[in-house]
Amino acid sequence: MAHRVTLIPGDGVGPELSEATRRVLEATGVEFDWDVQDAGVDVMDRYGTPLPEHVLESIRANRIAIKGPITTQVGTRFRSVNVQLRKELDLYCCLRPCRSYKGVRSRYQDVDIVICRENMEDLYAGIEFEMGKPETLKLIEVLELLSHRKIREDSGISIKPISVEGTKRIVRFAFGYARKQGRRKVTAVHKANIMKFSDGLFLAAAREVAETEFPDVEFEDRIVDNLSMQLVTRPEEYDVLVLPNLYGDIVSDLCAGLIGGLGVAPGANIGDDAAVFEATHGSAPKYKGLNKVNPMAMMLSGVLMLRHLDEDEAADRLEAAIAAVIEEGKSVTYDMKPTRDDPTAVGTSQVADAVIEKLGAA
Ligand code: NAD
Repeated sequence: MAHRVTLIPGDGVGPELSEATRRVLEATGVEFDWDVQDAGVDVMDRYGTPLPEHVLESIRANRIAIKGPITTQVGTRFRSVNVQLRKELDLYCCLRPCRSYKGVRSRYQDVDIVICRENMEDLYAGIEFEMGKPETLKLIEVLELLSHRKIREDSGISIKPISVEGTKRIVRFAFGYARKQGRRKVTAVHKANIMKFSDGLFLAAAREVAETEFPDVEFEDRIVDNLSMQLVTRPEEYDVLVLPNLYGDIVSDLCAGLIGGLGVAPGANIGDDAAVFEATHGSAPKYKGLNKVNPMAMMLSGVLMLRHLDEDEAADRLEAAIAAVIEEGKSVTYDMKPTRDDPTAVGTSQVADAVIEKLGAA
């Protein structure tokens, strides 16, 4: 039976990347019944919002979506569509596999790390108090009373909530992913030596889940600063990382750098009721409509989606076809050529043609 999937082309370069990705996904032979839904700057005039309710309804009904990037408009009353999607659908895990492909220019080879970043809590919960505001001064007063510490009056304050429930579900996700994908180890990342009651709780809850529910998968923990150093010296030692929101954000970009940058960095935001697959990069508006940018990160997000749909064999074939095109280095976009003005660079849709040809030849 065909998989019914919400397809959000997005804006900027999103529609061209989505079209290239749809074509290679269909070329695997897996059947899709696409529920195409527009969102982003291009629908603002029609619906008065970049994320109309019927788009959310479509994802809730289909439980799975793949989307092109969407521009966050600065200076409007609308929140980022990407943030809104995560909140509305409770997509609590940001999944970022970072794998080296031969032929990508990078200082590192053989990186194969999967990042599971908690998406809802921590300093990103949006509980912030502006310097000088009456409620901030009141909060400072209460905090001084309760903690017996002095806080400067001209401070701004951001709150960092980390809960047992929020931690356990992201850690369970990381272990479940490790088990399903046959990975060997999960590393919990924290700064529990300094933040005992937020990061300390994260570590304790992670340990409990590891010991009681997943004794078959190796577990260890690392302090985030130590991990950062080790990632750039010995990345091959790491497998699946599970992190609170802020460290997850920073370490995701560090690992994208290890594998050669945004052009090949896929991702997904996943919850218990829905999953949205998308590239890590943004909508690159200056390249809109030019058939120029690299579709591989979104195609690799399509590979993740195939695995999520239990289409592992098709996922393996598509990943191998993309890897072969990268290694050959012929039918790749400007950003994967030795120099950015290389005249042999091809366009977005030609990359899709090359991947489809490899799929056919396999
Ligand atoms: P960007 O990722 O769009 O661009 C950063 C740089 O990378 C640019 O030089 C761009 O040309 C290049 N680039 C990006 N994708 C590329 C690709 N596929 N192939 C080749 N080169 C590529 O980041 P930005 O400029 O900071 O953001 C542009 C817009 O995208 C903003 O409105 C931002 O909010 C939004 N954004 C959306 C998402 C999302 O939809 N998930 C993620 C990040 C940013």
